[in-house]
Amino acid sequence: MGLLARLMRAKKKDAWLPFLCSSCYEFRPGEQMRALPWWNTDAGAFFMKYNCPSCFDKSLAETEQRIEHWDADADKEFRSFLEIWNVLKYFPDVQGASIQETAKNVLRLVTESKGKALAVLARVRA
Ligand SMILES: [Zn+2]
Repeated sequence: MGLLARLMRAKKKDAWLPFLCSSCYEFRPGEQMRALPWWNTDAGAFFMKYNCPSCFDKSLAETEQRIEHWDADADKEFRSFLEIWNVLKYFPDVQGASIQETAKNVLRLVTESKGKALAVLARVRA
């Protein structure tokens, strides 16, 4: 059984803490949390963004756009995001030939898990 499946099963034993959606600023039950890398233009960096199901798709599209329009800043900052969140330790399969390719793989993981993969990762870090 993969790490994600194990962690998601473990989650059911204890309630997720409520969280604040980074887009609509509404409090939601923790099990609705979606998490993804998201580019903040003001800070010039990728952050872990927490969204409710209603706001998730828009953020995902924005991150897709940022990854399509890759540059040296994106490369440097996504590398940093991977390190801060230990992404490659928990999800080694997302490793690509380049940081941009790795970013695309991370986004695929986020999409396929409906935002749960990195939400679980955020919880491991807590
Ligand atoms: Zn929201």
